[in-house]
Amino acid sequence: GPQAEIHTLGCGPLLEAAVRTLCRAGARLAEPGEFTLRAFLSGRIDLTQAEAVLGVVDAVDGQQLAAALEQLAGGLAQPLQELRNRLFDLLVHLEAGLDFPEEDLPFLSRLELGRQLQEASEQLQNLAEQLQTRRMSDEGVTVVLVGRPNVGKSSLFNALLRRTQAIVSPCPGTTRDYLVGQLDAAGLRCRLVDTAGLDWVQVVSASGGTGEGEQGQMSVGAVSQQMSVRQVREADVLVWCVDGSQPMEPEEWAELVARGRAPRLVVLTKGDLPVRIDVEQLADQCGVGPIVTSSRTGQGLEELRSRLRETIEGLAATGGHAVWATAIRSAESIRLAEQALRRAITLGAETCPEELIAAEIRLALEEIGKVSGAVYTEDLLEQIFSRFCIGK
Ligand code: GDP
Repeated sequence: GPQAEIHTLGCGPLLEAAVRTLCRAGARLAEPGEFTLRAFLSGRIDLTQAEAVLGVVDAVDGQQLAAALEQLAGGLAQPLQELRNRLFDLLVHLEAGLDFPEEDLPFLSRLELGRQLQEASEQLQNLAEQLQTRRMSDEGVTVVLVGRPNVGKSSLFNALLRRTQAIVSPCPGTTRDYLVGQLDAAGLRCRLVDTAGLDWVQVVSASGGTGEGEQGQMSVGAVSQQMSVRQVREADVLVWCVDGSQPMEPEEWAELVARGRAPRLVVLTKGDLPVRIDVEQLADQCGVGPIVTSSRTGQGLEELRSRLRETIEGLAATGGHAVWATAIRSAESIRLAEQALRRAITLGAETCPEELIAAEIRLALEEIGKVSGAVYTEDLLEQIFSRFCIGK
């Protein structure tokens, strides 16, 4: 249709008036993601780049923005394209041999095939590493430990981080508000935040507490206050810590049962001591089974890591951080592609029929295609473009 471009001052009321006038004259506002969807459908950008646009729109800080922009510039698209061409060549060779066995095609020996597949598989490994680095650099998800004083949050924080040798430091610019570390959640990087460094006395008085300045004597208001601390508000996942060796106070129950925005895991600490909490009742009330841990013996820490990983992956599926959701999804596809290639290598070495080798290569191509967007499914598109909040 006819197009018009209007250049004007970036002044709010003026823009609003202009848009209103245009709409009255028959124009309509762009649907969410419409421009990007069009660019994608016409082949001007690939899926990774389309998601990066969303990443830019959504980016909450400089680092995320940088990662999104890098992705937009096609960080992954180029190497993926080369890999696809290479595998496609191999596939053509194999299939040509299948369809025209008596033709005199340039012969691809099993040895050469194996060598090429090996190289492709190594390229995939490199890409996987690149993605891992990207995840680390954009920091990923924030997991926050919450709970009353003395339930064992700090101990859990240290126990979880020790294995990964993460650098733990008080956050600059604040007077020991909270501690942050890089946590390895069963292979997934995330930020782990411990709120235990909060000045509890101050928190209690700030919330109009009833003078119970002692640690461990927080009022309901104080716990709510804790919930309103920025770190907690910005948490992607909350880990609620409950001291399993102490009976729970009614207020603690109330806080625990109240649902917040972020998905939540419940942890029973001090599992090395006799458990004095009704675990089943707790599970009933929270709608999620508590993980019994001990920072002293290491009990339950691996389970906590893998439950965190599951929760984080769930977040990615429902559209948390765009860039990082792409990274997780891409990493999974690359892993599957690499597995397919390794099977192809094994089959090639075992003088298996070429159909079987070709099938594995096709599978790898399909997974790689998912990353770069050459192969796409309707619901995947839907999932991505429905997340656009403005007509970018
Ligand atoms: P926070 O205030 O929630 O950060 O709690 P801390 O991590 O400082 O722990 C409070 C107290 O509980 C300390 O005396 C710890 O030694 C103790 N504690 C923490 N974790 C465990 C545990 O796994 N087993 C036992 N027996 N004691 C623990």
